[in-house]
Amino acid sequence: MVSSQAVTSAEVKGGHWFVVDGLAMPRAVGGHPGLDFVNTLAGWAEAEPSDYLKTYDHLAVWASVSGLLEADAAAALRRRAASRKAEGDAILKDAKRFRADLRALVLDPADGRALRRVNCVVGRAAARAELVPGPGPAPRWSVGGGLERPLLAVAWAASELLTQEDLSAVGACPGDGCGWVFLDPRGRRRWCSMQWCGNRSKVRAHAERHRA
Ligand SMILES: [Zn+2]
Repeated sequence: MVSSQAVTSAEVKGGHWFVVDGLAMPRAVGGHPGLDFVNTLAGWAEAEPSDYLKTYDHLAVWASVSGLLEADAAAALRRRAASRKAEGDAILKDAKRFRADLRALVLDPADGRALRRVNCVVGRAAARAELVPGPGPAPRWSVGGGLERPLLAVAWAASELLTQEDLSAVGACPGDGCGWVFLDPRGRRRWCSMQWCGNRSKVRAHAERHRA
């Protein structure tokens, strides 16, 4: 996969998100970019979830800050998408569908419908994946695909997640409005972050005890 890049324009915020180029980005807590992509939506069980993928630009920037796409490639795609809005919107819709299918599959690897749908996108990614010289002695994967490139890069990373990681070790945060998923190989992690969801829950439990 593409190596991580420094997020030079990130403005650090206290909570679940930070800002890059004026766009709110969710923090990486999943332990794998495939899980962090699932976490671009928070509040999976809520009637009105918080979706960080608001526009094609959000998708391209997310792929870049997650190390799946070079920053200059993401910037070029955003420029191209500005004049091809319908195409960008269609890819964004595909990305959200893929995100929901990927979440279903990591939480239930026996979900055949989710597997078939994830396979469609992973197949397109596989057709566009090639090994290119890496920064060190080993080559790395690069996934093409024009405007679809951020989605295909995510799908390619997701194929690694699905085949290389122990999916029985994927946990989901029970925090209000959260539901973020993460790798939890030791089975000891309850929250996406103790600092955000864990403390919020403790504060609420404390207030409820006082009311009682
Ligand atoms: Zn949480």
